[in-house]
Amino acid sequence: MSRTTAKSSRRSFLASSLALTTTAWMPAGARASGSSTRLILLGTGGGPRPRKASSAAAQVIIVNDTAYVVDCGDGVARQLVMANVPLANIKSIFITHHHSDHNADYGNLILLAWTAGLNHRVDSWGPPPLQRMTRLFFEMNSYDIKVRMADEGRPSLVRLVHAHEVRSGGLVMQDQNVRVTAALVHHPPVSPAFGYRFDTAERSIVISGDTTPTKSLVDLARGADVLVHDALLEPAIDRMVARVPNAQSLKQSILSHHTSAEDAGRVAREAGVKMLVLSHLIPPDDPRVTAQMWADAVPVRVRVR
Ligand SMILES: [Zn+2]
Repeated sequence: MSRTTAKSSRRSFLASSLALTTTAWMPAGARASGSSTRLILLGTGGGPRPRKASSAAAQVIIVNDTAYVVDCGDGVARQLVMANVPLANIKSIFITHHHSDHNADYGNLILLAWTAGLNHRVDSWGPPPLQRMTRLFFEMNSYDIKVRMADEGRPSLVRLVHAHEVRSGGLVMQDQNVRVTAALVHHPPVSPAFGYRFDTAERSIVISGDTTPTKSLVDLARGADVLVHDALLEPAIDRMVARVPNAQSLKQSILSHHTSAEDAGRVAREAGVKMLVLSHLIPPDDPRVTAQMWADAVPVRVRVR
């Protein structure tokens, strides 16, 4: 999609469906040139429970063949492989908050990318205690890491990885491809929790993380090309929690720190974003919930793909 044609078609909204587990939107021409900005949804399901139907919500933004991963739930390394993103191309990892559907495979992604050939510096950003988690993960896996260094001639993994803790909104990092800014979002009781905005030469992409509708995210997403926002479908929550026998206050918890599809539409409209992508869908795997139901829940014109 050239910049010109993108402008005319961007005033549209996209509701993600459960089937969109590996890819959602990509500018035409990006594949051919290898130099454009691409967004791939690695998973669109909300919650840490492993499922057949959808993977944990995660994204990768690719700019000039460099991969920026946002969130690392269960199976994120495999999802990247399924999306044809070489693990050795990972440069940066961003964690929105420390819930297991967003960080369970944070360390595993780095460890497995290293076995897949990663041999350059990797930086990670996320709320505290990201540095301690990184250190303890390497300690937990020190046997395997040491064996592979000695036996296979691998570089020191510990020296490749630099974890940075994000404590407030604002500029997170900037390199030759992208400028990343963060905003504190509202996800009680998990604090801090962040949404991230990626501005490249061609695109602006915002990932909400998990949040209730919040002004800080509206401000972060102002005028963005794409907003990936978490979404729930309240009428279907009761059926979902009935299937989970060990979490008495799960419904209350879900409703207290997520956004309905309807409100995600309002946030997108208020921020003036050009495309809304619903992700972190709750429920994530109810066969009675269709893509059209998600689309119908958003109170703006929606294009379903
Ligand atoms: Zn969460």
